[in-house]
Amino acid sequence: MSCFSRRIGYHSPTNDMDLDWRICSRARLARDARFDGKFFIGVLSTRIYCRPICRARTSKESNVLYFRSAAAAAEAGFRPCLRCRPECSPLSLAWAGTRNTVSRALRLITENGLDEGGVEVLAERLGVTSRHLRRLFMRHLGASPGAVAQTVRLHFAKKLIDETKLPMMEVALASGFGCVRRFNERIRNVYHRTPTQIRALVRRTAIQPENEYFFHLDFRPPFNWERILQYLASRAIPGVESVEGGSYRRSISFNGNHGRFDVSLDSEKNALAVRLHFSDPRSLFSIVERIRAMFDLNSDWAVIARTLRADPALAPLVETEQGIRVPGCWNAFELTTQGILGQHTSLERATSLTAQMVSTFGQRFTALGSPSHLFPTPEALANADLARVGLYGVKAEAIRTFVRAVCDGRIKFDGIIDCDAFLKQLCEVPGIDRRTGQYVAMRALRDPDAFLADDLVLRRIAGVRTIRELERRSEAWRPWRAYAAMLLWQSAGNARTEIQTLRSRPCTSPRLGSTQARLEIEACAKPSPINSKAMRSQRSGSV
Ligand SMILES: [Zn+2]
Repeated sequence: MSCFSRRIGYHSPTNDMDLDWRICSRARLARDARFDGKFFIGVLSTRIYCRPICRARTSKESNVLYFRSAAAAAEAGFRPCLRCRPECSPLSLAWAGTRNTVSRALRLITENGLDEGGVEVLAERLGVTSRHLRRLFMRHLGASPGAVAQTVRLHFAKKLIDETKLPMMEVALASGFGCVRRFNERIRNVYHRTPTQIRALVRRTAIQPENEYFFHLDFRPPFNWERILQYLASRAIPGVESVEGGSYRRSISFNGNHGRFDVSLDSEKNALAVRLHFSDPRSLFSIVERIRAMFDLNSDWAVIARTLRADPALAPLVETEQGIRVPGCWNAFELTTQGILGQHTSLERATSLTAQMVSTFGQRFTALGSPSHLFPTPEALANADLARVGLYGVKAEAIRTFVRAVCDGRIKFDGIIDCDAFLKQLCEVPGIDRRTGQYVAMRALRDPDAFLADDLVLRRIAGVRTIRELERRSEAWRPWRAYAAMLLWQSAGNARTEIQTLRSRPCTSPRLGSTQARLEIEACAKPSPINSKAMRSQRSGSV
C-alpha cells in the first residue's frame, strides 16, 4: 500500500524534512501553502484527494490519509479535487537536492512524458535497471514511474481544459494522449465528468485571442520575485528579453516555431501569471515546464533555509533574502554564448556585443514591438563572420569552437547529463574559462548543488583565498550550494549599495553593523587587484 495513515516515510539520506503525519496534520489544518505539493490528502468518505491548501471543509483526522505524491493518491483510487486542483501544485523535490536518480527521472518525465519504450528506456537512459528505478520511485513517491507519468499527463490535460479554450482534440494531443477516445475515457474515469463538463465549470472572464494562452504556475511561498526579476533584468539580452513594469518578457523558438511569453507575479494566488503566444499547442507542455524550471518554481525554501541557516555567515542572509531562487534559463546555447561574450569585459561592452550579435545574426521576430528578434541559432552562428560585430581573437575563436561543438552534437545540454562531465566538456573549448562553465552548469542544468568555486566575488565574501578553501567551505551548504551562491552575491550587491550610500553621505558616521556586513563592505570597497577583478567579473554580467 502506497499510503500511510501515520508516518510519511521519506527514507532518502538527503532528506532533512522528515515529515510525519503530525506535521502533515498541522499543515492541513492551517492550510499552510509552504507544504503545497509536499504531500496530498486523501479523504476516505469522498475518495477525493486534495492539496494542503484546499478551501473545502476540513475533514476529521480519522477520515484522511496522507500520500507522498498525487500519483500515489491516484493509485490508491482517489480522484483529484476539482476545487483545489492538485494539477497546479508545485512538484516536491525537497529530498532530491542532489543529483539522484529519481530527480533526474522525474525531470525526464516532466519534460517529455514516458517515451515509447516506457520505464525500460527511461531506466536505460539513467544507467540503472528498471527494477531498481521502480523500487526508488515506490520508496520516494509511493508510485511507479508509469503511474507518475500518467498523473503528470492527466494533470496537464486538466490544466489545458481549465485554462485554455483549445479544442478537446488539441488538448488530447498536447497532453500526450494520442487519441481523443483514450483522453475522453481517462478524464471521465478519473473526474466522473466529461472534458466538456469540466470546462463548463470554469468561469472564464477574459477573452483569449488565437494562439494565446494564460497559465497560472503555482509556487510554494516564500518566492523572492523581486530578486529573480532584478537578476534577469541585469542580464537581459537586448531585442530578445526585457524586464518592464514588474514583468519579464522574451521571444522563444521551439521545434521550429516561434513565439513569446511574459511572466508576472500573482502574489495572491502564490503563482506566476504567464501569457504565452505560440502557434503549436503540442509544444505547450514542454514550454510550460521550461518556464517552471526557469523561475525555479519547484524549489522548497523551508528545506533550503534549514541547511543554510546553520552557517552563521549565511544565517542573516537567509532571513533578509527569504525565498531567493536560482534563475534557470530558457536556452542553454544562448546562455553559454552570452557567458563567453561576458568574459573579461565590462557589462556595457558585453551587452553591446550581444545586442549586435542578435541584430546581425538573429532572425527578425515578426511580432510588433518587443521582443524584436530571436537569439541566433547555432547554425546561423556556425558560418557567421564574427568580425562584423566586432568580435576578434580568442573570444571569436571560443564562440566558433563552441558553436561547432554544439552543431556536431559534441556538446549537449541534455538535462540528465552529469554536472561534472558537462563542465569538463565545456571547459575543453579553448577560451571558455571554468567560471563560465560553472555558471552555465548552475543555470542550465538546474542542479541546486552546482557551485562557482572559481568565482572571485564568492571567495571574497566567504572570506577565503583559494578555490580549494571555498570548495571546503561550501561542503556545509550541500546540497544547496547554488542557493548559497545566490545569497552571497546578493550580499555583495547590498554592500555595494551601502558603499554608494556611505559615499553620498561623507560627513555622517558609517553605519557598519555586524562584522559580516563590515567584511562584505570591505571586500567590495578594497581596491586590491583581486577585488577589482572580482568586481569587474561581477559587472560583466556573467555572475
Ligand atoms: Zn481540494
